[in-house]
Amino acid sequence: MTDDRTALLLIGMEVMVPMSIAEIADWPEEDRHAAAAAAVDVISSGADQIAEHNPRKRELPRGRVTATIARSLAVLAYQPGGVTWAGGHWCTAPHEGCPRRRAATEATA
Ligand SMILES: [Zn+2]
Repeated sequence: MTDDRTALLLIGMEVMVPMSIAEIADWPEEDRHAAAAAAVDVISSGADQIAEHNPRKRELPRGRVTATIARSLAVLAYQPGGVTWAGGHWCTAPHEGCPRRRAATEATA
């Protein structure tokens, strides 16, 4: 995947991951683990095909793969320290070294 495509994917994740974080907020931990386990097959077989422009050459719809990545990042955001991926960072609780909180502090300084 090129840097431009990664940047575009990250822009989408900046919207999709917070929505997914909110969606799974009330889920029990075992449901989040089940979602993560279910995502493994989709991501492992479909993530490299996101860049494919011809839909007929993709085994999985691009939207399903990107939604699965967003759901997985949301699940990881609930883990201590959150998750950093492709330059984006998502977390649901304050933690040491959080790039989002550091950026917010620098913006107000
Ligand atoms: Zn953080």
